[in-house]
Amino acid sequence: MTKLLIASAALALAACATAPDPQSPKVKITPLGSHDGEFCPLDRALVFEDPDGTRILYDAGRTVRGPNDPRLGRIDAILLSHVHGDHLGDLIQPSANAGACPKPDFSVNVTPNSNMVNISLGKQAPMIVGGEMGSFLSAKVSSLGGDPGKLVRLVRYGAQTMVGKVMVAGVPAVHSNGLPAAFLPPEQAKLYAGGLTAYVGEPGGFVLRFSNGLTAYLSGDTGITAEQDSVVRGYYKANLVVMNIGGFPFTTGPDEAAYVVNSLVRPAAVIASHANEPATVGGKLSPTSRTAAFQKAAKMPVHVPLSGKTMEFDGSGRCTSGC
Ligand SMILES: [Zn+2]
Repeated sequence: MTKLLIASAALALAACATAPDPQSPKVKITPLGSHDGEFCPLDRALVFEDPDGTRILYDAGRTVRGPNDPRLGRIDAILLSHVHGDHLGDLIQPSANAGACPKPDFSVNVTPNSNMVNISLGKQAPMIVGGEMGSFLSAKVSSLGGDPGKLVRLVRYGAQTMVGKVMVAGVPAVHSNGLPAAFLPPEQAKLYAGGLTAYVGEPGGFVLRFSNGLTAYLSGDTGITAEQDSVVRGYYKANLVVMNIGGFPFTTGPDEAAYVVNSLVRPAAVIASHANEPATVGGKLSPTSRTAAFQKAAKMPVHVPLSGKTMEFDGSGRCTSGC
């Protein structure tokens, strides 16, 4: 009888320790993709909202439809991992859901300004960048009448800054970071004929620590890196990962990304990103997609970022609604 009592008390305690607390503050994460309710090839953009109300946009790319996209709302800071066209934003959609998920209509050209710079100017929100991107973006912001002191914030690897109650740190990504000539004025673009690009320092990823304790690693475009173990897990102790799974020929694919989350970062949950495929049809994951392969290979829950659908996470990295 005593043994039974002790056993049931232990069970009750264990249940208390793991049951989500409905009252605990949550971080809201909303994907801003090309097609409502789907996860489409060029989807990268996410908006993070801290319980204190701070709203941070990550890699607007092509799917945020400029600074007046009604999905943005107030934006307090903008994170840019690197300057490739699908992240800095060379093209955008003319309207919501233009084209089809497998082939979105990105017929509005926003070079040489870029979608990120237009959003930064429109929202008067600073772009947070590493490498040598700060000086390039400062010159661009100045040329468009903005204040680079306000709109460009350099955070290289190892450094951190605060946005409201959210800590933003720069972490390494191993990729490339050549600026496509389309972002340069024509007289400078001429210098980069013959396949050369203007190099703007290292690409990066980010770690965000929110006021409820949620610590999210945003991989950016990267391969497997030693720092995913030593820094992202070892130092920052990330409990949520937004992981690039696009694969050949640019970045980690499902197998490599599964190794990163299973063996290196070991978070409580993952949000798949940058799939470079129409991963869903009618909001349902295609069983033959690389997103499905990644979900199967990962040992923790992998959430699919459906455009416009807000997910909520508690401080331990657990999705409590919208997943
Ligand atoms: Zn990319």
